Amino acid sequence: MNKRYTGLIEHYRDRMPVTDGTRVISLGEGNTPLVKLENIPGETGKSVDLYVKYEGLNPTGSFKDRGMTMAVTRAVAEGSRAIICASTGNTSAAAAAYAARAGITAFVLIPEGKIALGKLAQAMIHGAVVIQIRGNFDAGMALVKEVADHAPVTIVNSINPYRLQGQKTAAFEIVDELGAAPDFHCLPVGNAGNITAHWIGYSEYAGQGTQACAFCEGSCKFGGKAVNGKRPTMVGYQASGSAPFMRGGMVDHPETVATAIRIGHPQSWDRAWTVQKESGGWFDECSDEEILAAQKLLTSREGIFCEPASATSVAGALRDIRAGRIPEGSSVVCTLTGHGLKDPDTAIRQCGDDMLTVDAELSAVKDAILNNMA
Ligand SMILES: *Cc1c(COP(=O)(O)O)cnc(C)c1O
Repeated sequence: MNKRYTGLIEHYRDRMPVTDGTRVISLGEGNTPLVKLENIPGETGKSVDLYVKYEGLNPTGSFKDRGMTMAVTRAVAEGSRAIICASTGNTSAAAAAYAARAGITAFVLIPEGKIALGKLAQAMIHGAVVIQIRGNFDAGMALVKEVADHAPVTIVNSINPYRLQGQKTAAFEIVDELGAAPDFHCLPVGNAGNITAHWIGYSEYAGQGTQACAFCEGSCKFGGKAVNGKRPTMVGYQASGSAPFMRGGMVDHPETVATAIRIGHPQSWDRAWTVQKESGGWFDECSDEEILAAQKLLTSREGIFCEPASATSVAGALRDIRAGRIPEGSSVVCTLTGHGLKDPDTAIRQCGDDMLTVDAELSAVKDAILNNMA
């Protein structure tokens, strides 16, 4: 059993919408670490098993790779020569990389000035056609849906059902590693595709159907063999300035430092409410201050660097653990959706002037050390 890991489609092949002859477009995505937090849980004063699924360690630095490998594989199989997406950044980075791998063109629509630096660099260096729009993600998404009727391009946003089929594998990995689903699974929510995909994955492994995946037209294999009957309670956290699930309707001018979830018109609105009902979970919101504090806590106390949107899951989970809404003794998984290096500007801004500048002399460096020992 020294088989080389070649990505999630091959690994979960019998549960993925591919056939024997399908050319798989993969960069070795998936198989990300499930890290048990050692220092942070103690600060809550409660006893819980808290894990983070570090999706920032995917090939382009976010969970979007899980969906993109499947969406691009299917697009190529169906003869498509170009893909298109609207993006807050990570979808465009993944689309650009997988299109490069496949030898097709990626068109990406991004909101001008509102995408993190690392994500823009990725889309550009992989050779995507980057179209900045003077509007937000929601405007870009509406345009992509329209233009796909007028040009030979395949949409690879999460309204593409194959995206969710790829992303459901994160749930498989967690069950495979823990031996059962956790009691709670917490995620940041933007379009709500990922929380839906996780529910599809957990349900498929539990041998149960879900209304949330009724749209997949049979590509979902929830009728397959049950691995473990348990499913988690799903909890979705939004940024307060961008929280349609808390407002009970669409938000026209979403604002948050967590640009990856700066989305006011979620594409998986109905499906996410189905997930909430079927799993007995809930939605909640976190302020930008809480989100940045959680990001800092993860970096400084656990050595784990995620982007601001990702930290929303931990910010919310810690609050709900402290409040007892997530009870003591629970096992909890938080998805860290993207890598911290995606957004260096926000990271540096968080640290203020936290840097020493001294002369290049032994005495100056020695003083700097002795004055700053913990
Ligand atoms: C896309 C993304 C999200 C939101 O996922 P949805 O499926 O849109 O809810 C959260 N965090 C990061 C880093 C993302 O790239």
